[in-house]
Amino acid sequence: MSAPIVQDVLPLPRKLPETDRVNLVGLTRPRLREALIAAGTPEAQAKMRANQLWQWIYQKGVRDFDAMTNLAKDYRALLKDHFAIEVPEIVTRSVSADGTRKYLVRIAGGHEVEVVYIPEDGRGTLCISSQVGCTLTCTFCHTGTQRLVRNLTAAEIVGQVMLARDDLGEWPKPGRNPKDETRLISNLVLMGMGEPLYNFEAVRDAMLIAMDGEGISLSRRRITLSTSGVVPEIERAGREIGCMLAISLHATTDELRNKIVPINRKYPIAQLFEALRAYPKLSNSERITFEYVMLKGVNDSDADARRLVKLISGIPAKINLIPFNEWPGAPYQRSDWDRIEAFANIVYKAGYASPIRTPRGEDIMAACGQLKSATERARKNRFQIAAEAGLPEPERIVRRPDAPDVH
Ligand code: SAH
Ligand code: SF4
Repeated sequence: MSAPIVQDVLPLPRKLPETDRVNLVGLTRPRLREALIAAGTPEAQAKMRANQLWQWIYQKGVRDFDAMTNLAKDYRALLKDHFAIEVPEIVTRSVSADGTRKYLVRIAGGHEVEVVYIPEDGRGTLCISSQVGCTLTCTFCHTGTQRLVRNLTAAEIVGQVMLARDDLGEWPKPGRNPKDETRLISNLVLMGMGEPLYNFEAVRDAMLIAMDGEGISLSRRRITLSTSGVVPEIERAGREIGCMLAISLHATTDELRNKIVPINRKYPIAQLFEALRAYPKLSNSERITFEYVMLKGVNDSDADARRLVKLISGIPAKINLIPFNEWPGAPYQRSDWDRIEAFANIVYKAGYASPIRTPRGEDIMAACGQLKSATERARKNRFQIAAEAGLPEPERIVRRPDAPDVH
């Protein structure tokens, strides 16, 4: 089986918001300041105003300018004229028997992405999306079969954290210090839909906002960006975001990785590891996570485990073994439990943590790789999608005879 590196997708332009008011969510501090000046805030006051707004929006979760009591009435009126504070809208919320919550979220243009909240003992992880669909075609991934792709804006990315906080009731009660509140969302992972390094600037800005100590205030060590291996952007991620890194490795030879993670044909294993060895701030406390999906009879042998250990030698690493999560029409099966344990043991004995990720939220299709917009599940064709989005009819593309039959 061989998949093209990128799929035949229909990229959708970002639709401008219905109003011409600028959304303050998603603007970095310097851009927020500039926007306030452009709207008539005196330059000398702009920094202070930006700080005040920042705290209302990201520390207190306030969306209504009228509730911003430390701003004068006429200034609030000016803000209302020029700006909005908008986050994506939750369309549905499913709660799994194990407590995992999956939100289907609507963004501008009527598109949908999924956000998953996973509560665990002592921590809560929010898994957020960076794109509607994904242009890449990893053969085991449901998102990769979605043929409609649009990059999310920074507002839509950080907005996922904000709407989850709304739903979990995580904003501090009036009069309370945010630090006194329990942190329900203690960790963020960019492991939902999309390839974050193909939407670099928006992901970076959203993460800088989430890390800001006067707002959502998540430490960069509690944010993990997962990439299938967009090598040229890895170093930049270290430099401009500085968060933790997870690599979707899934295979230990180019021959197999070319097939199941097709971006490997562009950036093969040797190049990927060169970038990883140079990833800034490598140390034991900042390990790189390698994700490895366990596919029965495909990548789960003892020989695979030994090759994996050899590949990562010298890199402070943790191996996250992910039992394959099935989706309708998936061309793989999950490795047997004994096999996963045997694999984990080899890695562990070589000195690496090798946790097996418990599938969470499977009953609501919230597990890794199962995410795909409900709109897409209805299998609209490209022509219907284009018509609905008001786009010209897409070119008819003849399907390559060797393309995988995974949908
Ligand atoms: N595009 C990024 C991030 C999103 S995918 C990336 O590929 O890293 C998050 C993780 O889920 C990746 O490691 C991905 O390979 C894995 N995954 C995808 N489909 C899966 C499936 N069906 N079962 C288990 N893990 C899957
Ligand atoms: Fe895209 Fe990641 Fe899925 Fe590959 S595994 S298709 S990169 S979302």
